[in-house]
Amino acid sequence: MAQEVLIQVKDLLTQFRLDDGLLTAVNGISFEIHKGETLGIVGESGCGKSVTALSLLNLIEPPGKVAGGEILCDGVNVLKMNKRELRSFRGNQIAMVFQEPMTSLNPVFTVGNQIDEVIRIHNRVSSHEARERTIELLRLVNIPLPEQRYGEYPHQLSGGMRQRVMIAMALACNPKLLICDEPTTALDVTVQAQVLKLINKLKRQMDMAIMLITHDLAVISSIADRVIIMYAGQIVEEAIEREIFTNPLHPYTEALLKSIPSLSKNTEELYMIKGMVPNLLQRHEGCLFAPRCEYAREICRSVEPSSCLVGNTKVLCHKYMDDWEVAP
Ligand code: SF4
Repeated sequence: MAQEVLIQVKDLLTQFRLDDGLLTAVNGISFEIHKGETLGIVGESGCGKSVTALSLLNLIEPPGKVAGGEILCDGVNVLKMNKRELRSFRGNQIAMVFQEPMTSLNPVFTVGNQIDEVIRIHNRVSSHEARERTIELLRLVNIPLPEQRYGEYPHQLSGGMRQRVMIAMALACNPKLLICDEPTTALDVTVQAQVLKLINKLKRQMDMAIMLITHDLAVISSIADRVIIMYAGQIVEEAIEREIFTNPLHPYTEALLKSIPSLSKNTEELYMIKGMVPNLLQRHEGCLFAPRCEYAREICRSVEPSSCLVGNTKVLCHKYMDDWEVAP
C-alpha cells in the first residue's frame, strides 16, 4: 500500500553567492517524506544534507538562496509562504533539533522558561498551562525530576540532557515531522544510543515522521525505514534501510559501508575513501564521484549520469545502464 506523502521536494536547488563565485550546495534534488516514517539522510560534511533541511524550513539566509524547485506540504509550497504562514508552519508542521544544544539554548534563561516560550508563541495558553505542558514534555523525553529541572539553566545539565531539552522544545507543538541534524554527534557513545532510542520511541508515541541527518551510516542502521545517500549536493542513492546495508548499489554507498568501524576490524583494515569531495564552486563534467570511484570509466568523466531504478532502489550511476559493459 502506498504511504501517504507528508513532504514532497521537487528539483530543489540551493545556492550561496560567495566572494569566490556561486556555490551550489543542493543540486536539483527530489524526494518525498512519508507520514510516520524515519528517513535517514547520510553523507560527508558539505554534501548538502543540512542545507536541504534548512531549505525545507525556508530558513536559508543570504548569501544563500533557494534558487529553484518546490517544497510541498499538504499541497502548499513552503517557499511561497508569507511570514505568518511560515511561523505557524515551523513548529506545527516541521520542527528541527540541531547538533550542538549549547549554541541553540539561551544560557541566561532556565530551560523551563525557554520551552514555555515556544509553547506560548504557538498556542493561546496561560503561563500555568505552559508550565504544565513543559513539565509533561520534559517527562516525555525521559528527564528525571522534571519539576526541578524546569528551573535549571542549560549549563547545569549534561550534554545528553541538553539534547533532550532541545527535543522537548521541538515537540512543543506536536510537529508532523521532526528533523534531527546530527543529534548525537556531540555526545559520547552511550548517551548517543539513549538519544537515538528516545527519538525512535517518540516517533511511535507521537505518530510523527523523522528526518535523521548524519555523516555516520552506522547511526541510522535499524532506526531508519528509508535512506537517502547524498554526495556533492546530489542524491546518489535512495533505498529502504535493509537494501542500503545488504545490497548497496552506488560506489559511494559501498565505500561508506566499508569505512564503518567494527570490532572485527583493526585500524589498518579501516577503509578510507580516497581523494576529496569536489569543489562545488567549480563546474564539473560527468559524474561528481568519478575522481574517487574505483569503477570509473571514460563515460563517467564526460557524461553526467541520470537516476535509474534498480529494483526499488534509485541510483545515480552509469554502472546500472544497459550499455555499461560496452561503455568506453
Ligand atoms: Fe563511479 Fe561511474 Fe558510477 Fe560515477 S557513474 S559512481 S564514476 S561508476
